[in-house]
Amino acid sequence: MPDIIQLLPDNIANQIAAGEVIQRPASAVKELLENAVDAGADEIKLFINDAGKSLIQVIDNGKGMSDTDARMAFERHATSKISNIEDLFKIKTMGFRGEALASIAAVAQVELKTKRAEDETGVYLEIENSIVIKQEPIAAPIGTSIAMKNLFFNVPARRNFLKSNPAELRHIVDEFIRVAMAFPEVFFSLTSNGQQVFHLEKGTLKQRIVQILGNNYNAKLVAVQEHTDYMNIYGFVGKPETAKKTRGDQYFFVNNRFIKSAYLNHALMNAFDAMIGKDSFPMYALFIDLDPSQLDINVHPTKQEIKFEDEKIVYAFVQSAVKHALAQFSITPTLDFELDVSIQQLDAVSKPFTDEKKSTATSSSLYSTFTKKNQSHFIENKSELKHWKDFYEPEKKTTAEGWKSLTDAGNIQSQQVLHTVNEQIPGTDNLAQLHNSFIVTPTNKGYYLIHQQNAHERILYEQFTTAVDGKPIAAQRSLFPATLELSVTDAVLLNELLPDLNHLGYLLEPFGNNTFVIQGSPADVVDGNEKVAVEKMLEQYKHFSNDLKYSKREKLLRSMALQQSIKAGTGLTEKEMKALVENLFSCVTPNITPNGKPTYLEFKKDELDKMFGR
Ligand code: ADP
Ligand code: MG
Repeated sequence: MPDIIQLLPDNIANQIAAGEVIQRPASAVKELLENAVDAGADEIKLFINDAGKSLIQVIDNGKGMSDTDARMAFERHATSKISNIEDLFKIKTMGFRGEALASIAAVAQVELKTKRAEDETGVYLEIENSIVIKQEPIAAPIGTSIAMKNLFFNVPARRNFLKSNPAELRHIVDEFIRVAMAFPEVFFSLTSNGQQVFHLEKGTLKQRIVQILGNNYNAKLVAVQEHTDYMNIYGFVGKPETAKKTRGDQYFFVNNRFIKSAYLNHALMNAFDAMIGKDSFPMYALFIDLDPSQLDINVHPTKQEIKFEDEKIVYAFVQSAVKHALAQFSITPTLDFELDVSIQQLDAVSKPFTDEKKSTATSSSLYSTFTKKNQSHFIENKSELKHWKDFYEPEKKTTAEGWKSLTDAGNIQSQQVLHTVNEQIPGTDNLAQLHNSFIVTPTNKGYYLIHQQNAHERILYEQFTTAVDGKPIAAQRSLFPATLELSVTDAVLLNELLPDLNHLGYLLEPFGNNTFVIQGSPADVVDGNEKVAVEKMLEQYKHFSNDLKYSKREKLLRSMALQQSIKAGTGLTEKEMKALVENLFSCVTPNITPNGKPTYLEFKKDELDKMFGR
């Protein structure tokens, strides 16, 4: 037998390694923008075509590269940013692994133009499959322009994994925002298919936030700022009234690097505490600076996760700094004054940080409440509707003993099983509404208790499904079309949903500059309410949008149904109740909402008798 092991050729090894760094156009965008920032540019322009699939180009006015460096830059592990392992613990740059350009050159066709201030001429390079195919001197402005074309042209399997253009564009916009937010002193622009989407003049952080997230935040931002020897925090949180139903506008940066941290997010939510509703998410853009030796940015290849040397201190610090800020701006008159004082006295906030102080801080009672609260966070209490299910199981003994077992009944297992129990269609006479929330409808075996909102959600969901499957809901043209001004991310999202919304009776026309005109809406949307309806739908949609198991159409249908369903607390006329019951029981799956909550409970007369000991 011959030996069988061989070394992979460089270009294949590079392609495989590239998979970790460049998963989609947005990853390349992030790397190129960060390189431009690291090069000291104060003007960075991003151009993309076809959501980055055919072109991603970044032009910067940074320090440029010599011709040798320009060639070297595309070698794997080629970096000017660290030279020994010690450097890793004092990283001040965004990049340091020396992998991005090598990865990009392995999976796209690259054209580089670059020139340093001290050089007569610049250099032009063309690279394909990791091989330089052209190099020549060129006249160029100071700085660097990198164009990468036809991403994954040589890795079709990866190309096939890319999502639709609107979806990929959304990822790009996200990455763009994360970099642009962290460097307000740098001009950024984003041009997509020749249309300028962002044009961010240099300014203050506050100006940058408003430029990116929209004017509604103007005058609605509370400054957060605390300095200690151990760490600094600065930035802004939105006033409680700007909290949204989705967690979109939330940004943490550590040493100017965007990070995702459920842990710090929790600290922040705790700081807002009772000031916002349970399901609301406050806006924040907070920057934490601390000695790089106190972090390990190496834990994740795309560097969005971070490990703090002492994360409890960071948690307590973030929470108290935000509480302090909210209290100082007397956002809420109900905020406990004593608590505020004790926060200000917390070592993490008020004193320089030494090891000795650190241990006092960790043993303080205030500190331990921070951390205790944090632990309860992960035990979600989903206690609603625990025992409804047993009403569907007539075989089960519901004696006084059995009653207890009802309370710990499990969750819904399968639509099918439940569906079989509901052959019985109730009559629609003698309907009664309870608490403006439930409808009681007698059957000959007992009665149904219908949850009006859940029931309506099911009805709408099935109506909408039919509509997008080919029987569109008619739109009524508005006499005075409303205009809808959205943030860039929302505009990208809405564009993606336009065709389906059209089937659902919403005529929306893009009007440039993230603005849409609502030309028509379904007949049952009250005149003047269509704008709010679309805005709420978007909020709800974003709420679902991390749910990977649903298609975007499914998410839209679910959002619309949820958002448009009549809410508990709404009084219904007899005619409305009748329509609701009839429509519910003509549904394909009348017994549960799209999310699997029951729409009605059945109370059987003989079971009720038993419960009363009869
Ligand atoms: P890293 O950023 O981790 O060092 P990259 O592969 O992203 O690795 O870049 C390799 C090197 O190329 C960088 O260290 C830098 O010296 C140089 N470089 C990359 N992009 C630019 C740019 N826009 N301007 C100047 N130099 C650059
Ligand atoms: Mg880099």
